[in-house]
Amino acid sequence: MNWLRNSFAGRHGTDALSVALMILFLLLSFLGQLLRWPILVLLAYLPLILCFYRMLSRNHEKRWRENEAFLGFWRPIGHWCSVRFHRAQDNKTHRFFHCPQCKQTLRVPRGKGKIEIHCPKCGTTFVKKT
Ligand SMILES: [Zn+2]
Repeated sequence: MNWLRNSFAGRHGTDALSVALMILFLLLSFLGQLLRWPILVLLAYLPLILCFYRMLSRNHEKRWRENEAFLGFWRPIGHWCSVRFHRAQDNKTHRFFHCPQCKQTLRVPRGKGKIEIHCPKCGTTFVKKT
């Protein structure tokens, strides 16, 4: 088993971009099967091949730069999704308002009637019904 361990030593391994490529492969192949488009099923293998190429690569610096470029693109999207998910979870107990001055999102408890909301960012006060 040492030969196997030695052959994988020093390889780049898995990172966020590799996982995204794997998910892209799964989505494209599923969509290709669903729509019965054999060309899409065939094209789905491109991200999979790229994923394995990246995982088995020994050029860590280049793979790291590719992953950082991907994360620069992905982080804002992931943050946007995370905010929407947490807001949907809090929607039964809280309401969300935007400050009329600085557009900061403010979370206040639901069902308190008309309340005065104070923006901690800019200090503006406004009245809203919760
Ligand atoms: Zn404000």
